[in-house]
Amino acid sequence: MTVTTIDIPADSLFGLDNLPYGVFSPAGGLPRVGVRVAESVVDLAATLGDSVFSEPTLNAFMAQGRDQWVSVRNRITELVTSEIDSNAVFSVDSVTMHLPIAVADYVDFYASENHATNLGRLFRPDAAPLMPNWKHLPVGYHGRSSTIVVSGTDIVRPCGQRKAPDQESPDFGPSRRLDIEAEMGFIVGTPSKMGDSITPDEFAEYVFGAVVVNDWSARDIQAWEYVPLGPNLGKSFATSISPWVVPLLALEAARIDTPVQDPEPLSYLRGEEKWGLDIDLAVEWNGHVVSRPPYAQMYWSPAQMLAHTTINGAAASTGDLFASGTISGPDKDQRGAFIELTWGGKEPVAVGSETRTFLEDGDTIAISATAPGVGGSRIGFGDVHARILPATQTER
Ligand code: CA
Repeated sequence: MTVTTIDIPADSLFGLDNLPYGVFSPAGGLPRVGVRVAESVVDLAATLGDSVFSEPTLNAFMAQGRDQWVSVRNRITELVTSEIDSNAVFSVDSVTMHLPIAVADYVDFYASENHATNLGRLFRPDAAPLMPNWKHLPVGYHGRSSTIVVSGTDIVRPCGQRKAPDQESPDFGPSRRLDIEAEMGFIVGTPSKMGDSITPDEFAEYVFGAVVVNDWSARDIQAWEYVPLGPNLGKSFATSISPWVVPLLALEAARIDTPVQDPEPLSYLRGEEKWGLDIDLAVEWNGHVVSRPPYAQMYWSPAQMLAHTTINGAAASTGDLFASGTISGPDKDQRGAFIELTWGGKEPVAVGSETRTFLEDGDTIAISATAPGVGGSRIGFGDVHARILPATQTER
């Protein structure tokens, strides 16, 4: 066996504080679980000798629970700081990344007060921007698990029913208001039983890690269909996630209080533990940063989202993904969706030397995120990126 050591620069976003998991395939090889260290990917089945890492998703490992997550993380730290089989180490540029989990249920929340207020003003200009329930529970809807795709997957512009305010009746065709939503997603590892509920302080027992999410949104389809039951086809055509799952264990230094919650939520939504997260996002449109959404501003924590999801006895399953909803800060350049950034398309933004309101065919989007690491450095989530392809359906 030839051995190697992994060079980990002090300023790497993928240093020992991070150690995110993903599913990769080397050229000509099958998908398997790896861990990212600096610019390398380490094959865990080959190095740890555990067949759970030969699986094409993280689900079997995630289902083993938190004690095993801690134990494996400690073993990986030892592994990557000593000599390692060079056949088990790949350059991150040489591998193909896959969807890291088999997604069970997918729920998307609406946890940013700035975003909910902005969308309320845009969609319902004559009413109070926040619905009466908004500060009492984390509002969410069930999304479509089967159209969650990994970063790098092209997104085909969806077609559907569109009805602009000045149209008497709807027509059918490609979305003219294709948008993004910059979000964080949380992945359940340990399952719960139907009938049980998870308290906010039990969050770390159940949730394995986090990814960056782009919840693609066709605003014209959404605006016509969403009353009274919420988003459906305006969202379900595709949702993209980043390939590296940052373990919750790597986010200890990012934990902060949520903003003050007034009125105080009901007791099942209250806990002692801090699960606000100091994560900074950046949205690049055709390579130009147009927004920097701050996760720290989110009103509802992911622990409250999971507690709310299960308080009626609904089970949580290994591979459940729940997303935060669009992350928007108070400032214009902190808005995580273009409908807010361009105020419904009325205020185009500069994208390099061009201007944009909504996405055009051929546009690329990359959403990245970083957070403080436990060792004082920063850790990275990498990014979720994609290109928009023209609609393929014909008029009907
Ligand atoms: Ca969303």
